[in-house]
Amino acid sequence: MSDESPAMSRTTAEWQAADAAHFLHPFTDFQSLAAKGSRIITRAEGIYLWDSEGHKILDAMSGLWCVNVGYGQQALIDAATKQLETLPFYNAFFQTATPPAIELAELLAEVTPPQFEHVFFSGSGSEGNDTVVRMVRRYWDLLGQPERQIIISRKNAYHGSTMAGASLGGMSGMHVQGGLPIPGIVHIEQPYWWELGRPQGLTREAFGLQAAGWLEEMILDMGPENVAAFIGEPIQGAGGVIIPATTYWPEVQRICNQYGVLLVSDEVICGFGRTGHWWGCETLGFQPDLMTFAKGVTSGYVPLGGVMVGQRVADVLIQQGGEFNHGYTYSGHPVACAVALANIRLIRSLKLVEHVHDDVGPYLAEAFRQLAGHPLVGDAETCGLMGALLLVKDKLSGEAFDESVGIGMVCRSHCFNQGVIMRAVGDRMIIAPPLVITRNQIDDMVALIRRCLDLTLADAQREGWLR
Ligand SMILES: *Cc1c(COP(=O)(O)O)cnc(C)c1O
Repeated sequence: MSDESPAMSRTTAEWQAADAAHFLHPFTDFQSLAAKGSRIITRAEGIYLWDSEGHKILDAMSGLWCVNVGYGQQALIDAATKQLETLPFYNAFFQTATPPAIELAELLAEVTPPQFEHVFFSGSGSEGNDTVVRMVRRYWDLLGQPERQIIISRKNAYHGSTMAGASLGGMSGMHVQGGLPIPGIVHIEQPYWWELGRPQGLTREAFGLQAAGWLEEMILDMGPENVAAFIGEPIQGAGGVIIPATTYWPEVQRICNQYGVLLVSDEVICGFGRTGHWWGCETLGFQPDLMTFAKGVTSGYVPLGGVMVGQRVADVLIQQGGEFNHGYTYSGHPVACAVALANIRLIRSLKLVEHVHDDVGPYLAEAFRQLAGHPLVGDAETCGLMGALLLVKDKLSGEAFDESVGIGMVCRSHCFNQGVIMRAVGDRMIIAPPLVITRNQIDDMVALIRRCLDLTLADAQREGWLR
């Protein structure tokens, strides 16, 4: 390596100026970022990042919910290098295939629930969900029920940012930009107990049943003969780590079965061990017909996504299908598939799913029970290695801070300065650290989080936000 490594070749200010001049960032207010200047991340190792000023940062968000095996894993680097040298690209369109794509399909069938023997590859989670929309509608067409077009999703769901992904998602801020949702997609309320169940005095379990019941109401409103599928994240990620009651998903499953509606699990975050089982649907107790995956499939080292297609749908597509007029240039990209293979083998050899289930998951849960005692924390929840802290003004009543305070962003900026990356979704502070995290590292992370909560509380006292 020469000392001309890109990170060192310019100062932070120079990087920021060039960034502001040319790079339109995703989900970003361009003008305010240009004014503040972005933080330039230059390298990473394990669960830590370094910025261009040399600050070390604990990455409690795994990049963007994806770097599950942590940074710098040599097996993934070697797999990419070897595949780039052997065959950097070939497509899977015209009766061709590459060994990494075939082997990955085979391995995915092995690590997914028994109803899954087939996969359709995409380049991302959003594209995977576009595939879902086309595939479920195609399925009903082939079965002679073309009127089954409607896909039911949930408010505050996140399913990606393409036209179909953002339409399936239930983010109103996204719908107002670009004329979404596309036709045939409707939304029910999310299973967020704190906001919707608690005010009614319902237990979490009773609320879980009520929230699932909204699906049945919507199916009946639309007419079951018009409903193709229901899609949901086992645990909503970008929506703020909303963990549904244990009663919710089994009841959703029962309702889908009753009306013949396909059940789609968006496992882009929950898949590959995040919740303490290989798949979120295994933790939450349901058997989907289709599963979208991305992010953790390669631990984010290179882009890859896809859809696991259950036997119910695969049988129809394969036996009655004819040509499915759908696919992406990078469906089954050999380098991405080679990295995914190395990643999944590493998850197995390091026993990361067991590590989350038996060791660090319960350990994090206990740490969050302690944090729940903090004066600012109204509710603290985890599932596997996903967690959320709800910041409230009044711990006893659960009263929220005035929206104008933006308490989540206040806390987030302390996190930024203290060297830990947490995300703020409204008043919920969320984490999803790499699955390789150790107990000692969890102690460090929780100590940093506690310090940020203390600093936020001090702000609130000084500024009079608690009154
Ligand atoms: C991130 C995410 C997506 C979109 O994946 P991209 O790779 O960003 O397109 C879809 N669904 C869920 C649940 C996600 O978290």
